[in-house]
Amino acid sequence: MQEIEAKEILEQLKLHVENGIYTQDMATTIRVHNEIDAYNLAINALEKQVPLKVHYPINESGKTNYKAPYCFKCGTHLHSVLYCPHCGQKIDWE
Ligand SMILES: [Zn+2]
Repeated sequence: MQEIEAKEILEQLKLHVENGIYTQDMATTIRVHNEIDAYNLAINALEKQVPLKVHYPINESGKTNYKAPYCFKCGTHLHSVLYCPHCGQKIDWE
């Protein structure tokens, strides 16, 4: 999936969840909540497809340690991987 595509779909899904339908009818309310859960799952999965920049720790003297890249989402130490092995986040190394 293209990064642009993923971002556009993400925006649409988030908008749909934010504009969730509220109703007095219990069956419809339950159905809508289940749909919103499904949307949130999809949003979560898609967000991992949009690359997040790799992060590097900064020590007390303010120097960046480029030898210890880590995933910004979960903090896992990374070794030139396209996806974080722990949370599945796509990593941007540039
Ligand atoms: Zn991660």
